[in-house]
Amino acid sequence: MKPSDRQTVHDNWKSVIDDVDQAVHDSGRDPSEVTIVGVTKYVDAETTALLVQAGCKHLGENRPQLLWDKTKYFAEHLFEFSDTSGQPADLQWHVIGHLQRNKVRRTLRCTPVIHSVDSDRLLREVADESTKLDVKTRVLLEVNISGDANKTGLDPDALKSALDTSLGESIEVAGLMAMAGWGTDSSESRRQFAAVRSLRDQMETQFGIQLPELSMGMSGDFREAVAEGATMVRIGSRIFAGVMEDR
Ligand SMILES: *Cc1c(COP(=O)(O)O)cnc(C)c1O
Repeated sequence: MKPSDRQTVHDNWKSVIDDVDQAVHDSGRDPSEVTIVGVTKYVDAETTALLVQAGCKHLGENRPQLLWDKTKYFAEHLFEFSDTSGQPADLQWHVIGHLQRNKVRRTLRCTPVIHSVDSDRLLREVADESTKLDVKTRVLLEVNISGDANKTGLDPDALKSALDTSLGESIEVAGLMAMAGWGTDSSESRRQFAAVRSLRDQMETQFGIQLPELSMGMSGDFREAVAEGATMVRIGSRIFAGVMEDR
């Protein structure tokens, strides 16, 4: 970590907030509708802490091991991240990458929102383990909207079957998560995000449920995602520009 990293992360975070606010404003939406998840997979726990100190309360990790390590680090250094009222920083972790079923139990101890539920079996495992731990877990179902075979996520038929699974009270399926395909230009990514939204609307009608959350948009395409109704944008490289390059 360089001495200048604190200022860099702080400035980048402020500029991301401004740009997301602008995108929200341009779309005629209310800022309270969109949460920025700071994706910290590129950096270590100390650098992640700089983002928390800058004011980011939602942190996203794509690998369980990193999530475990960082929650441990934060538990051990908690008072350093307390706000001025002396309260512990009110952090919410988000799992945004593929989660293996044998890592579910340990991951649930960090009480994350899981964006990347990409199979029936994982969904059921999260429900079962949440019941055992007596927690209620918020999940999103990841859909493969780009049709890109290399991408994870449920196709629309698999999504229906997942929504058809009876899961009990320990899990809340709150919405959908998606990524635009590689190398898509702005209009194509916007078209894909619109398709996610319409798939969500269709599922709400078909199953008579509410799926309020749409997790879509990253550093390069959050404007398009916000325009199409994203409620969570997952932003990493924009926040850590100038910090991660030299690692
Ligand atoms: C890395 C990652 C992000 C953040 O992407 P950036 O382009 O760095 O903002 C968002 N979502 C997922 C699933 C990721 O793996």
